[in-house]
Amino acid sequence: MALLKDNHIDIPEDHSLVLALSIASVVANSLPASPTSRVVGRTPPVPSAYPIGSACGNEWQYLNFDPSNNADNGHLQTLHDIICSGEMRAISRWGAKAASDANLVYKRYFPMSDDDDDFQVHVNSVLMKIAGQSSTEGMIGIIVGTFVVDNLGGTSTDFAGTCGEKETLAYTDTDHLDGREKIHFCGIAWDRPNAQTRSGQCGDFDLFPSTKMDTFSRVALHEMMHYSSVGPPSTLGEQIQDVFNVDRKVAYDPPRVHGLVDKNQDNNPALTEINADSYAWMALDTWVSMTCSNDQATYDQFFEQNPPAYD
Ligand SMILES: [Zn+2]
Repeated sequence: MALLKDNHIDIPEDHSLVLALSIASVVANSLPASPTSRVVGRTPPVPSAYPIGSACGNEWQYLNFDPSNNADNGHLQTLHDIICSGEMRAISRWGAKAASDANLVYKRYFPMSDDDDDFQVHVNSVLMKIAGQSSTEGMIGIIVGTFVVDNLGGTSTDFAGTCGEKETLAYTDTDHLDGREKIHFCGIAWDRPNAQTRSGQCGDFDLFPSTKMDTFSRVALHEMMHYSSVGPPSTLGEQIQDVFNVDRKVAYDPPRVHGLVDKNQDNNPALTEINADSYAWMALDTWVSMTCSNDQATYDQFFEQNPPAYD
């Protein structure tokens, strides 16, 4: 295993995948979507491969982007780069390793396995669906090649959901017209940086994991968790959703996802393994900790504290 060196990201147990991060774009946070609106009469177009260049192995599919539009062009590049640079594989693979190791980062978000539930195996299984078992499969897990990013969204004419709420970063839902599950990223999501940018900001982070370390890939990983081809066929065997803390607010962001498992807060460990944001933040925390500490033996101590209690 190797560490982050300069502009390279190494992936645990996958030496062949040292990938240059040559991205210059940005993106986002998380998520929810409530399937409410259906549009009758629209014939959904068929998703396509990367429209402005060569797709990499298992890259996701694209819908309703206009390559001649500058904004769309930039978003296409961002979506392409987080997969084809190896960033998505890196964060998901490091998260899977943290689960196997049950290190300090993992335990900030998930419980240890016990007689009733093999949490560690399930978390590893889910994240490996995204990372893929082998670099020979492509740049990311095989199932990601079936995922669709639909640029048409944020209005009542979309396949479902809405970006109406200011804090909504993205959502995933099934288009009832063609039966395809699709991801839509909302406007604010594109402002989140890539991992390469974050790797230069280690000194700016808090003593605990926070949204200061957020990346577009973390938002993308959250949405990927909602695909029916991720949770149900993994050892988890369940659909991954967005769960609520005891105060009935959605468990998004580090304080709340930590609060689910924290014995002094919700103390509800069973919810963690079906909560999309728990996977996304644990994986990103692992990657950030590894990158910023640059020490495989003690990287899980990079953040000295757990997130503060949610309000
Ligand atoms: Zn979600």
